[in-house]
Amino acid sequence: MQITGDLLIGQSTVRGTGRVLYAIDPATGDAIAEPGFASGDAASVERACLLASAAFDPFRQAPLETRAAFIESIADGIGALGSVLIERAHAETGLPKARLEGERARTMGQLRLFAALVREGRWLAATLDAALPDRQPLPRSDLRMRKIPLGPVAVFGASNFPLAFSVAGGDTASAFAAGCPVVVKAHGAHLGTSELVGRVVQAAVAQHGLPDGTFSLIFGEGNAVGEALVAHPAIKAVGFTGSRHGGLALMRVAAARPEPIPVHAEMSSINPVFLLPGALAQRADSIARGFVDSLALGAGQFCTNPGVVIALDGAELDGFMERAGEALSARAAQTMLTPAIQSACAAGIARLTEQNAVSVAARGLEEGGPTQARAMLFATDAGTFLDNAVLSDEIFGPVSIVVRCKDAAEMLQIATKLEGQLTATLHLDAGADLDLARELLPILERKAGRVLANGFPTGVEVSHAMVHGGPFPATSDSRTTSVGTSAIERFLRPVCYQDLPAELLPEALRDGNPLGLWRLEDGELRKTR
Ligand code: NAP
Repeated sequence: MQITGDLLIGQSTVRGTGRVLYAIDPATGDAIAEPGFASGDAASVERACLLASAAFDPFRQAPLETRAAFIESIADGIGALGSVLIERAHAETGLPKARLEGERARTMGQLRLFAALVREGRWLAATLDAALPDRQPLPRSDLRMRKIPLGPVAVFGASNFPLAFSVAGGDTASAFAAGCPVVVKAHGAHLGTSELVGRVVQAAVAQHGLPDGTFSLIFGEGNAVGEALVAHPAIKAVGFTGSRHGGLALMRVAAARPEPIPVHAEMSSINPVFLLPGALAQRADSIARGFVDSLALGAGQFCTNPGVVIALDGAELDGFMERAGEALSARAAQTMLTPAIQSACAAGIARLTEQNAVSVAARGLEEGGPTQARAMLFATDAGTFLDNAVLSDEIFGPVSIVVRCKDAAEMLQIATKLEGQLTATLHLDAGADLDLARELLPILERKAGRVLANGFPTGVEVSHAMVHGGPFPATSDSRTTSVGTSAIERFLRPVCYQDLPAELLPEALRDGNPLGLWRLEDGELRKTR
């Protein structure tokens, strides 16, 4: 498949009229010469949004089987791109090919999971309350409820997952599953990868006879194309993964519209790891090794990177620090996704280095290229951490800080003061640490979308029970998740039909349950026909 650098607006390919962007080889910082990706302009945003708006009703009203098969065809098409996709993504992101192959499998699996979800239909939340004409003092109407999609969704791909959180990633898959057309603003860190996947989606739209505007892909800079997209009246919701700065900017644009819309932004998290004393006494070495593996994975460019470790001061923590220091010192520096991400990481390290009462505990091997980052471990005490907000800022990269606490009360104080997080981890001994864990748990539930024990937060399973979300600033809306099947909820809303004639009722709510759905009928979950 040829990469041309053209915008995909519905079924057409259009040359943008704005600034020409080039993919960058992050290892050198040099542009990958051809093709250039010409940015979209106001007219292309307008065209994509109007097409999406026109596609909305026919797309959402197409049979669920068509929608599911469409999503599966995207998975098949991504697989069929073969090594072309992996080579291109590797060239643009510097991510190892094995990692990209794993991410491709995850992306295809995620699409198939959403296709299965569409067919199963529980997300429709079909609910029927029968009329009670004889009820005293007032009769009750016939009430039937189901969920419908919100409308066209603007998706902003993430730099760090060029496949799984990008053009056909979780936001797009869940929006399609809900029945929403999608307009993607491609991330500048993987332009060619975006086009390859975009062309697969475009072909799947045609293959299933879906309306042109079901999908569009636009290149361009965030504050021009991205803001115009979010401001467009046809767009009814936004999915975003990236920086707090970017997410907040899009939330402001969405809130300032004449018709404000929901923005589901996944932004920043430092993913605290609490080492409880019993666990530390028993297995400081293995926890230290696991921690360094998690910290350095993918040059630390994960939203679930363990950015802070909280533990009781003492000989056991000294042992942990020693083992972690040894493991970290042997780690090679790694190429980061973009020069901008590398310089933000370097600035974060410089900022930590100059803080009072913060010391460097260990360094990875020195950088061997302009866009590389070496792993860094800092240490401080609880008083300093609690007093200095800079120490809780996310540094996107292989960087973490260990906080030494005098007692359990300080650990609880830190937990209480944390901002919202995607994850919180407890390393605990199932006997010795249970009392402290019981005290921490209610605090951590309030702070994080996922609480885990005796593991590390990197590695997010795509499944039904997964929550990849959390209170602000982890996300803009803690009620949902951006990974797992519950992600579909972001793009749905309930509609109640009161006393509608049978002929007008949606199939999901008709008598006799023609779709064979699980439905809540007069308060009981049933699957009758
Ligand atoms: P980013 O700068 O927030 O950009 C993400 C996307 O949003 C890009 O397409 C960007 O477009 C767009 N955007 C940014 N600011 C915008 C604005 N004001 N208006 C409209 N669109 C805007 O994130 P990034 O490039 O992926 O990485 C930078 C930083 O994000 C990292 O250093 C890290 O701190 C954070 N990050 C967090 C996560 C996470 O999972 N939480 C993941 C990746 C990155 P342009 O690039 O064209 O401006």
